[in-house]
Amino acid sequence: MHLVLLGPPGAGKGTQAALLSRDLGLAHISTGDMLRGAVQEGTDLGLLAREYMDQGNLVPDDVVIGITKERLEAPDVQTGFVLDGFPRTVKQAEALDEILEDIGLPLDLVINIKVPQSELIRRMTGRRVCPKCGESYHLVFNPPRSLGTCDQCGHDLHQRDDDKETTVRQRLEVYERESGPLTDYYSDKGVLVSVDGTGTVEQVADRLKLTLK
Ligand code: ADP
Ligand code: ADP
Ligand code: ZN
Repeated sequence: MHLVLLGPPGAGKGTQAALLSRDLGLAHISTGDMLRGAVQEGTDLGLLAREYMDQGNLVPDDVVIGITKERLEAPDVQTGFVLDGFPRTVKQAEALDEILEDIGLPLDLVINIKVPQSELIRRMTGRRVCPKCGESYHLVFNPPRSLGTCDQCGHDLHQRDDDKETTVRQRLEVYERESGPLTDYYSDKGVLVSVDGTGTVEQVADRLKLTLK
């Protein structure tokens, strides 16, 4: 299975991609996680990316396309992938088509996860993430078993700098403007399905499973 999860920040892409990766053995490719990894390591890429991420803006296309291309060329991707947070612009979508053609893999489905804006803000402002393994939690909706600690790896949880309310609003605007056109791009290709992203994590996961059947 070769999937793209589309949807605004806070829609649950990371949460659902992690479940799909576990259940179906897909490579989970999150550009946000890769960029945050580079920021933490303090690489040149990280220093550059941080300027954009902290403002709630998109990192330039050529940078994100470069790291995604490299990731898609890794051997584990051959058994299937779920892309989370890429593409985010039409230019990235066009680049993805080219990359997949080069490596000889199809794009089976693009799943657009839909959640109302008020709910997105609640989800993002309560989000806590594991800086070590990338697992995403929510203070109220999806708490870890032990407060402040990652269930998967035991590391301390953090609030992302860009999950503060002002940055959250900017990210939602950027999403609408830059990523909105992707639904037309993929529905024209006949690979787009929309899934209701409201309800519990399990309810959304069940809807995704039904969609993939
Ligand atoms: P969310 O889905 O909650 O917005 P991500 O972890 O996917 O969070 O992305 C966090 C930030 O990383 C984005 O706001 C953006 O600055 C940057 N980023 C991630 N993916 C991309 C991408 N495909 N193109 C440009 N910037 C990206
Ligand atoms: P995205 O990757 O699309 O930005 P996440 O998967 O990180 O989104 O989810 C955003 C926040 O909402 C996290 O705190 C996560 O635990 C929480 N969350 C995810 N799915 C749901 C859901 N179905 N109901 C309530 N909260 C959710
Ligand atoms: Zn962890």
